[in-house]
Amino acid sequence: MSKYLVVGAGLFGAVFAREAAKRGHEVTVIEKRDHVAGNIYTKEIDGIQVHQYGAHIFHTSNKDVWEYVQQFAEFNRYTNSPVANYKGKMYNLPFNMNTFTQMWGVRTPQEAMDKINEQRAEMAGKTPQNLEEQAISLIGRDIYEKLIKGYTEKQWGRKATELPAFIIKRVPVRLIYDNNYFNDDYQGIPKGGYTKLVENMLKHDKITVELDTDFFAKKDEYLQKFDRVVYTGPIDEFFDYKLGELEYRSLRFETEEKDVGNYQGNAVINYTDAETPYTRVIEHKHFEFGKGDPDKTIITREYPADWHKGDEPYYPVNNDRNNDLYAQYKEMADKEDAKVIFGGRLGQYKYYNMDQVIATALEAVNDEFGK
Ligand code: FAD
Repeated sequence: MSKYLVVGAGLFGAVFAREAAKRGHEVTVIEKRDHVAGNIYTKEIDGIQVHQYGAHIFHTSNKDVWEYVQQFAEFNRYTNSPVANYKGKMYNLPFNMNTFTQMWGVRTPQEAMDKINEQRAEMAGKTPQNLEEQAISLIGRDIYEKLIKGYTEKQWGRKATELPAFIIKRVPVRLIYDNNYFNDDYQGIPKGGYTKLVENMLKHDKITVELDTDFFAKKDEYLQKFDRVVYTGPIDEFFDYKLGELEYRSLRFETEEKDVGNYQGNAVINYTDAETPYTRVIEHKHFEFGKGDPDKTIITREYPADWHKGDEPYYPVNNDRNNDLYAQYKEMADKEDAKVIFGGRLGQYKYYNMDQVIATALEAVNDEFGK
């Protein structure tokens, strides 16, 4: 039996720790924050599960992953159906017959397609040179200007005419009245929050969790003391930024308690105009169908932000520069640190949804212990 150190009590670390413990190994999990669950952490306030690092909806078509998580939590039937607010007018998302009816008063799929094609005609025969032209060529000007432009510009911090066309490869259009954002087979929110789910994964007599503990405070000692290390922090930090820093987009959250039972009538409202500085307002209680204090609610405004070293890294910026740099770090990792497994969104510098993180953690488990 080996002694494992897992750096990071996020989803990747928790799955790996659980599976190693299940196979009889001693596992120590260290986490630099004062809580487990990493970015999927939910904190209970007024009986409401507040998603502290951004709204998280579990969705997957991977049956094995879906069955895997059921061991640790019961999921509710939450279906993500965001609504867009453009200058006070509300539109259903994703783009579907409800949106087209609200936008143009059309009633049938044929009427909607005719309208979209009529709008796309302005780009006919032209090659889109930027994101704006690309979006118009795919979906037409009305949808672009009211539902894509402002939101995208806020997200990227740049004008749509200055963003490359390839960012939008296609605009999914649904010619049925269906506001379900995801096409996946399974979807939901763990009842009682994500923190409980991760706590249940880590509840095992062979797992010890140490919070407020930074790997870099005693890196050499840890590497000596443990047989194997699973590292889920930023890969460039592991190598002391020797080759340079990987870049991220960040987010700023502004959370507020309101003395009303129901503030906006939906969990997620996107603000798609350019003037409102935030992109989304989340009303957390709607993820659990209004559970919590009936006279109070918690909302969070989400502001996209540039990332500077020391800020929370949210989204990897997978451009050529960063992908090349990551590849070099990966090569170092493969060569130099045979006892370290790099995993998760920071260790692999990749945007992963939760189901993908679980799937890659289970792959790492198979590589380590065999199927
Ligand atoms: P993390 O959760 O980041 O865990 C890594 C942990 O390592 C952290 O707790 C960190 O503190 C710790 N750590 C780092 N360095 C050290 C160190 N030196 N010492 C000790 N500990 C360390 N996915 C979905 O499926 N659905 C969604 O709706 C969804 N929404 C999202 C919304 C936002 C805004 C973002 C940014 C992501 C969203 N995701 C969503 C993705 C989801 O958050 C990730 O898939 C998941 O959190 C990744 O887990 P992880 O274990 O790889 O990383």
